[in-house]
Amino acid sequence: MRRRPLLVACGIAVAAALGVVAAVAVGSDGGGSVTPRYAVATGGLQRLDPGADGVPATVAGGTSTDAATTASPGAPTLAGKVVAIDPGHNGGNGSHPSQINRLVDIGNGRKACDTAGAETASGYAESAYTLEVGRRVRRILKHEGAKVVMTRTTDDGVGPCINVRAEIGNRAHADAAVSIHADGGPSSGRGFHVIYPTPLPGLTAAIARPSRRLAVDLRAAYEQGTGMPRADYIGHDGLDERSDLGGLNLSKVPKVFIETGNMNNATDAVKLTDAGFRELAAKAIAAGIARFVEGSG
Ligand code: ZN
Repeated sequence: MRRRPLLVACGIAVAAALGVVAAVAVGSDGGGSVTPRYAVATGGLQRLDPGADGVPATVAGGTSTDAATTASPGAPTLAGKVVAIDPGHNGGNGSHPSQINRLVDIGNGRKACDTAGAETASGYAESAYTLEVGRRVRRILKHEGAKVVMTRTTDDGVGPCINVRAEIGNRAHADAAVSIHADGGPSSGRGFHVIYPTPLPGLTAAIARPSRRLAVDLRAAYEQGTGMPRADYIGHDGLDERSDLGGLNLSKVPKVFIETGNMNNATDAVKLTDAGFRELAAKAIAAGIARFVEGSG
């Protein structure tokens, strides 16, 4: 149940309200065909041996996957890379409707500055979840040598608006930007999905292709590292393409949203409310980002 009046599911409710029909690209790049160079391990991000098949020996839901990885001593692997992490929503959004309902330009229309986000049936807010996961991702990527910029670092404020969130990644000239969310989908629907931008002339045309690569890398790392299934209620094969998200439309750097699970689903909610799962989620997201930024040169 959602109790806060401004609660808006960050995924499908908004799309439905706008009459948006997701154009879904279904390619041959299934997660199983991608060979990861990074894997999730108990100590953080670890590089796989060259030639390894990239599939840890044991990947079960919620377990770590360090058995098949080896540490690589030496210099940080992501030195010189810049990553923007955008923890979705903010804890004060729900109590500041006039500020977050203010319309902002999203390139191909106007949309609310931000939304309150979802929450689990037990009242665990998406904004708190996304910030905690985002902080964990930052810790892991910084340990690997990346520069990490965050769109927010506390959960008691309002915003920033979605256009500002995009601008933060742009100004940082980020090699990759990831907006972290947990969906407010139908209670019967399970799983995660990664949203990448539709190529829009004058907006996302230049970043659409690399953003999709980022989405595929994140999908592979996330399902491998967390055991969360691909969403069965939206998108296809854990991916969704959208043209109605200002955070994507206004980005000039490769960017995706990852909806890490469905807060309205009881099974997903058990995972999302578990700190151990959030650490696994963060490691997986960091691994997916690392794979992308290393491959993008
Ligand atoms: Zn959200």
